[in-house]
Amino acid sequence: MKKNIFLVLAAILFFTPRYLVKAEDDYNTVMKQDLLAIMIAYPEHVAGVEKASNEKVYLVMKSGKRILYDDKRNKNFEEKLNNPDLQDMLEQKYPLEPVTKLMDKNFDPGRARVYELIREVYGTSRQQVEKNLMMVNTGYGVFQFNKQNNAAQELRSAFTELRSMAQTNKKISAFIAPCSGTYNYRVIAGTGRLSPHSFGTAIDLSRDKRDYWKWATPEEGEKRLLSYSKEVVEVFENHNFVWGGKWGHFDILHFEYRPEIILKARYFRNNVEVDKPWYYGVATDNTDIQNKIQLIENALR
Ligand SMILES: [Zn+2]
Repeated sequence: MKKNIFLVLAAILFFTPRYLVKAEDDYNTVMKQDLLAIMIAYPEHVAGVEKASNEKVYLVMKSGKRILYDDKRNKNFEEKLNNPDLQDMLEQKYPLEPVTKLMDKNFDPGRARVYELIREVYGTSRQQVEKNLMMVNTGYGVFQFNKQNNAAQELRSAFTELRSMAQTNKKISAFIAPCSGTYNYRVIAGTGRLSPHSFGTAIDLSRDKRDYWKWATPEEGEKRLLSYSKEVVEVFENHNFVWGGKWGHFDILHFEYRPEIILKARYFRNNVEVDKPWYYGVATDNTDIQNKIQLIENALR
């Protein structure tokens, strides 16, 4: 009996610290990956990263504003949606592969938004946002979109591709036209949160009554989802837009410019690779990216 207890204790001593170290490593790895994805996604707005004397980690904006990475609070799904930090915002990894079914109920990668970050980039007030809007001719109409951080440019490029695809694939036009709207300063119904349309960074394509989780049953939504053009989704994702069809709270006509979500998914498909540096997956032949990696290493050492 004594021998068994000894063995159990020995096993605990042997395994526990390694597990703890592993969990800590994973947390730090994901934190660095998240911060790098954000830095690459918002190159003109993020200056760097900082670890304060209380060990809290911040994203430092060029304006001087600091945005907390992780508030370390235990939040449920609704709380994360209402008040996400950067870590919550990037916690669920956006799937880049085509959907084969409706996502799980509370799987909504990209639906949580850190407004501190969005405001810094696209405009701190309605007036500021409106100053940043420009007109984009999609070939199917002219729409307002935010010019900051290449958002309008990427929208235009996506439509250039879609237009040429639509010439040979007639089905595509029905998904992209008529457009249901871009800029619209409004709160999301039933919440106090501003819609991403308020920043001119989202577009609703051609509408179907099964497109939104509040309008349709999950079965109806899934039917529409599976019949949706994979080509249209792929083009938008290639231009750093997330698709609301990949949310459990589906919003199938909705595409939103969120480079940090797409870049994280593209670079770090598998969260933590054993025996690889934390930035494995990012093209490191680029000096600018090397500098960003170094900056994160130095700040979080
Ligand atoms: Zn929308």
